[in-house]
Amino acid sequence: MINIPKGTKDVLPAESYKWQFVENAARQTAAQFNIREIRTPVFEHTELFLRGVGETTDVVTKEMYTFEDKGGRSITLKPEGTAGAARMFIENGLANSPLPLKAYYIAPCYRYERPQAGRLREFHQFGIEVFGASSPEADAEVIFAASTFLKKLGIKDIRLEINSIGCKSCRAEYNRALKEYFRPHLGEMCATCNERFEKNPLRMIDCKEEKCKAITAGAPKMLDYLCPDCRAHFEKVKCLLDSLGVEYTVNPDIVRGLDYYTRTVFEFVSTSIGAQGTVCGGGRYDGLVSELGGGNVPAIGFAAGLERLLLLMENTGIPFPAAAVPEVYVAGMDDATRAKAFAIVNDLRARGVSAECDLMSRSVKAQFKYADKLGAKYVAVIGGNELERGTVNLKKMADGTVSEVAFADIYGFLAENK
Ligand code: ATP
Ligand code: MG
Repeated sequence: MINIPKGTKDVLPAESYKWQFVENAARQTAAQFNIREIRTPVFEHTELFLRGVGETTDVVTKEMYTFEDKGGRSITLKPEGTAGAARMFIENGLANSPLPLKAYYIAPCYRYERPQAGRLREFHQFGIEVFGASSPEADAEVIFAASTFLKKLGIKDIRLEINSIGCKSCRAEYNRALKEYFRPHLGEMCATCNERFEKNPLRMIDCKEEKCKAITAGAPKMLDYLCPDCRAHFEKVKCLLDSLGVEYTVNPDIVRGLDYYTRTVFEFVSTSIGAQGTVCGGGRYDGLVSELGGGNVPAIGFAAGLERLLLLMENTGIPFPAAAVPEVYVAGMDDATRAKAFAIVNDLRARGVSAECDLMSRSVKAQFKYADKLGAKYVAVIGGNELERGTVNLKKMADGTVSEVAFADIYGFLAENK
């Protein structure tokens, strides 16, 4: 027997309604914020992620699914959605469409990571990207969209942490200060930090190694180095969040340390799902579109991990609306009555009603058992008498009441007695 690849998961028929609930909440949220869906390929040229995610990130240095296709091109399964969305924006000349351009996606992502709770090799993200708006209102709107989505799911036990990582000009000074601080400690820090020291010292703040974390704790904070424009932007974002009633804490250690990520960064973090507590991460990336060869187009977005959200909902006992069940199950006994049951059920289906009958040549008793397992709201059996009279006894499973209904009236009866 061939097993599923490590770090991937099947969604079984008994579980898929939970996914659909989360995805519907995502689509509803997007509709409320007037955000349209986009779909980009699952794979892109590797170069897109080298430039669009950044060569010093964990994703690019350790986690990408990269392979050569039969034409000798280097291809990568998308590890995240923003780079592909930005490529789409540029390639289709969407800078000339009415701005801001607001887009969302629900898509699989691939990262070669060590699988554990909330960390998979194939996972799914709901993401939003807003291209063209540099105002603090855009930041607040995107954060509010994430918060609205989480609320729709019924998630309460969650913390919003925000920070500002400044712009190119204030970052340069901060990087100098960081280097000055880290230089005497480099001997005690991990190899990755040593590499990042030269290329992108901001990313050292994100290191998960205990020995590095201890040193990083005392490092200068970006917030103390913001230029007046970046400071004013951050203050305005906080003000807007206050006015929207969105609670947050400022966490100066959040970095999404790519060169073209700018200003606002944020994470929604839960303490209920263990170490992988970040269910949603986002930020402003004013430099990405131009880095990828487009114009100077500011942008901001977020991505939420659907597996982590489902895990959080399950762990904290948040109820999912019940899965859909058939309105009616119609059983038959012999060839003639089975044929009638089959005809009635498929006529109901053709008229938009969820109905079910036997496909397994089971006894009436076994059909009842199956109907019960399906959770059918009404069950009817057609025997010789019923066939003759042209009626069925519809039994309401919730309370056992029985109603005699003519074959031709079943549709109307079900519509009236939901
Ligand atoms: P982490 O620090 O947990 O590795 P990240 O910073 O790599 O997260 P992002 O690139 O910001 O994550 O991705 C956005 C969201 O996608 C995360 O907040 C998380 O919910 C989800 N996510 C990221 N990697 C995985 C994974 N390997 N398995 C499941 N979900 C993931
Ligand atoms: Mg990661």
